[in-house]
Amino acid sequence: MPATLFLAPDAAGLARAADILRAGGLVAFPTETVYGLGGDARSDRAVAGIFAAKDRPRFNPLIAHLPDLAAAEEFALFDDRARALAAAFWPGPLTLVLPLRPGAGLSPLVTAELPTVAIRVPAHPVAQALLRAFGGPLAAPSANPSGRVSPTRAAHVAEGLSGRIDAILDGGACAVGVESTILGLDGTASLLRPGGLPAESIEALIGPLTTGGNAAKPNAPGQLASHYAPAAAIRLNARDTRPGEIRLGFGPGAAALNLSPTGDLTEAAANLFHLLREADRLAGPGGTIAIAPIPETGLGRAINDRLRRAAAPRG
Ligand code: AMP
Ligand code: MG
Repeated sequence: MPATLFLAPDAAGLARAADILRAGGLVAFPTETVYGLGGDARSDRAVAGIFAAKDRPRFNPLIAHLPDLAAAEEFALFDDRARALAAAFWPGPLTLVLPLRPGAGLSPLVTAELPTVAIRVPAHPVAQALLRAFGGPLAAPSANPSGRVSPTRAAHVAEGLSGRIDAILDGGACAVGVESTILGLDGTASLLRPGGLPAESIEALIGPLTTGGNAAKPNAPGQLASHYAPAAAIRLNARDTRPGEIRLGFGPGAAALNLSPTGDLTEAAANLFHLLREADRLAGPGGTIAIAPIPETGLGRAINDRLRRAAAPRG
């Protein structure tokens, strides 16, 4: 990747940023909470690129950013409660986890294959302008390498991600400085992460919140109950293919399906969820999917983490 561009948040900079995003590239942009690392939430390749740039070891779900409630309703199912919250607190530091609208077209890497989606409408004028110039949903976790503190200035983003992303829109310092509050609304309203909007403000509008754990945080295998579990058996690190097995390859070599014939981990991540389903369909119940070894480096760690979950015994 060429050197990371610094873009001013003027008409030319925003147009350039939107072009980069439309081409599947990655642009860091300011929000009122922290800087986000944005990519087209409909593009498997762009979203896989976000995980690669951040060096995330797991495919945890990302927040989809949209310019307003009307745009958000194209991707999630809102009930009266969700609309009331959106009317009161959007744009602003509140993320709503809602049932995913069927056929919404988001990459399964954004939702980590959950039946829900986390949506936010940011208030920062540069984030608003970028979303409108781009005209689609932006997946955007914080713009820092995995495990480091969230960036609240363009220079922080550059320190962590320079040379790993296409551009940084410089919008100065973020006002809030902590992440958005995440509210689960797929059932009982529950506080999934405290953040920039106080829980009391939410409770004043919709009543008491539960504070159960975040079921979407895949800390332990099996915790992410909705993760797609293949019906076929899985054999990991398969250097050969045994009779009757369906091979899911990586790198050159004969295989029924291949995550990336050139051995590119970002391409493999982009293809992973679709090809796992396809391999399962081809193998059929009682069949076995033989999966080629994937290097345990960079995005390979997240891919192997997901594959180990797919291979784990289930009850
Ligand atoms: P970040 O990557 O810092 O933007 O954080 C995103 C947060 O949103 C993580 O804590 C995720 O677990 C949470 N999240 C995203 N999507 C969902 C979802 N569908 N259900 C529950 N939590 C979610
Ligand atoms: Mg973060």
